[in-house]
Amino acid sequence: MSAFASSAPRLISTDDGSRAAAIAAAVEALGAGRLVALPTETVYGLGADATDGTAVAGIYAAKGRPSINPLISHVPDLAAAETHGRFDADARRLAQAFWPGPLTLVVPKQPGSPISDLATAGLDSVGLRVPANAVTRAVLAGLGRPVAAPSANRSGRISPTTAADVVAELGAKVAVVVDDGPCPVGVESTIVACLGDDVRLLRPGGVSRAEIEAVLGRPLDASPSGHDADASDEVLLAPGMMTSHYAPEAAVRLDAREVRAGEALLAFGPEPIAGQDQAVAVETLSATGDLTEAAANLFGALRRLDSSGAAAIAVMPIPAEGLGEAIRDRLARAAAPRG
Ligand code: AMP
Ligand code: MG
Repeated sequence: MSAFASSAPRLISTDDGSRAAAIAAAVEALGAGRLVALPTETVYGLGADATDGTAVAGIYAAKGRPSINPLISHVPDLAAAETHGRFDADARRLAQAFWPGPLTLVVPKQPGSPISDLATAGLDSVGLRVPANAVTRAVLAGLGRPVAAPSANRSGRISPTTAADVVAELGAKVAVVVDDGPCPVGVESTIVACLGDDVRLLRPGGVSRAEIEAVLGRPLDASPSGHDADASDEVLLAPGMMTSHYAPEAAVRLDAREVRAGEALLAFGPEPIAGQDQAVAVETLSATGDLTEAAANLFGALRRLDSSGAAAIAVMPIPAEGLGEAIRDRLARAAAPRG
């Protein structure tokens, strides 16, 4: 019998007298770096402290996500959002019109924001949302830190709109499930990017294009080419529209068995490899071979190696199991030739 089989998440209802206890339990678990399923008006979210890279890595592990994409960070109000993102006039107008509500705004990340690199997938933009659910907003205010939360389902499956769906999907992978009844909207948030002169729809959702255009007083700019039919979690960004994926300047060489002249090393696990002493710079994802630690360190380590000025980064083999699959996917995209 596995340890998982006998354990279950703590399912707490928000009925009558238990509301304050549910909020306190969720705040405590999030503060301890654990995963909490939270009700929103769209779907149930699988939340982690967005400033804690290890906790955010836990989201990927629990969902079994095969790739690393930026997550939406949830905050209690616009004032909190403005400490993490830079809002221009359009972004502020949209926030004032639709928050709290099913609209996510992708805006430039404030340089001082403590949101982890893993939550933004290494980008210098951040996706922010103020959800409407009162219990969840109380949790966000109580925690005092943003909560990264994609839908609380295993990768490739339908988004959960009840607490029972969450338990069926994730079981004991989530510490606490806050049961506030069925989600009223049931589709994901609309995602709008305000990253410069134009305002673009990245994903349709609970707020319609017409409602957004009415607030802007003009049509949205041309949208990205389309959506990844396979996953409601994914958004395709138009080529050249923005850096949709963090990519180092240096070439990236995967599954390296040795460090070659002029290379920096991205190390994994306890064993050194040939030529390590000659590496331009070395960063270790996890000295013990822990994939959660490796995911949490991935973007910071890549960025530091990139700024070492090395022409290439040799990456030691990372097992393609568990979170390793998502880490390898991200590194493969960093390694892909770009034009
Ligand atoms: P969800 O799985 O519902 O949390 O939605 C996450 C989606 O939000 C991702 O697939 C992203 O494309 C989008 N998103 C979040 N943050 C950003 C960002 N900084 N830049 C671009 N897209 C973002
Ligand atoms: Mg989803």
